[in-house]
Amino acid sequence: MHVADRMKTLGTETAFLVLAKARALEAKGKNIVHLEIGEPDFDTPANIKEAAKRGLDTGFTHYGPAPGLPELRKTIAEYSTKLLGQRFSPEQVVVTPGAKPIMFYTILACVNPGEEVIYPNPGFPIYESVINFVGARPIPLVLKEEKGFRFEVDDLEKLITPRTRMLIINTPQNPTGGILTKEDLQRIAELAVKNDLMVLSDEIYNRILYDGFQHTSISTFPGMAERTIILDGFSKTYAMTGWRMGWGIFPEPLVPAISQLQINCTSCTSSFSQVAGIEALTGPQGDVEKMVIEFKRRRDVIVEGLNSIPGFRCHKPLGAFYVFPNIKGTGKKSQELSEYLLNEAGVACLSGTAFGTSGEGYLRFSYANSVEKITTALERIRKAVS
Ligand code: PMP
Repeated sequence: MHVADRMKTLGTETAFLVLAKARALEAKGKNIVHLEIGEPDFDTPANIKEAAKRGLDTGFTHYGPAPGLPELRKTIAEYSTKLLGQRFSPEQVVVTPGAKPIMFYTILACVNPGEEVIYPNPGFPIYESVINFVGARPIPLVLKEEKGFRFEVDDLEKLITPRTRMLIINTPQNPTGGILTKEDLQRIAELAVKNDLMVLSDEIYNRILYDGFQHTSISTFPGMAERTIILDGFSKTYAMTGWRMGWGIFPEPLVPAISQLQINCTSCTSSFSQVAGIEALTGPQGDVEKMVIEFKRRRDVIVEGLNSIPGFRCHKPLGAFYVFPNIKGTGKKSQELSEYLLNEAGVACLSGTAFGTSGEGYLRFSYANSVEKITTALERIRKAVS
């Protein structure tokens, strides 16, 4: 089969490959605890599902406008204005099937071949994949375990060249659960303005926070609104990964290009899902709060458990639902240990290297699973590594 050369430059998201491997082992009768995939195990709240059913019954079964239903774009602008403390207009919003296309569309629309894009490493693998795919140069910005997986803003400054077009940041972060502080963001914003960089700010975990940490969007700093693209969505906050509903908030002049990419690619996001999205953002928020309280309980169990396993050292994250323990003390490489845990202990997790070269020496566990299952996984890991 002839496959175009450009496919050689496209990466992937290993979580889906490990999930498939784990399911194949389950089909052979092996018991697996799933700590590999990044999705809430909770069901989508009932009021949201009811709204989708109403959408189906009232004719939202046809194409809609490419950037999203006007009512949802307005709702997202109002929701984000309130959440992030910055005025956004409905015309800045583009609704997409999941938040992932925002990465693809933004990089395609804004970055020329040969230009440089700085991105977090370890980080969500699709950033590097898409940067390569458009023929741009990926410039990794290393996150530091000793800084709670923040990066040194001085390191960022050293990476900026006249060819740097865009900076990607992600807070709270996948795969580490790390956050960027308000002070970090202020300094990053100053660098972005000084060097005329665009910033793709992935804020999809902005409501999954612990210990009183308050999220800040980089778009709120002076000079940033006109150069920031905010990526956000329903998948994590409302346990809606399978609905494929996300959005981007763009500087308005970019919206026609992004809509045009959407027209070329998907036409629009599912119309009845968008009706449910309006309910998600405007309806009762109690289920979100309950989910975050439960995630915090699980975080505490998994961090304490991993820290008591010889060879593991685990930082306590302030956001998202991932831990990224240092496993250098086991003497094993990350990929080797993750495969060993899957095959021998029946615990599915990801090698830190699935998130870039700086992930060597780490594993990623998603704690979007019950305390009971997490406890079982911890016991199995302890046994397997001893
Ligand atoms: N950004 C980050 C950092 C993520 O972890 C994910 C999902 N794993 C996404 C974006 C994409 O979310 P969606 O499922 O809505 O496409």
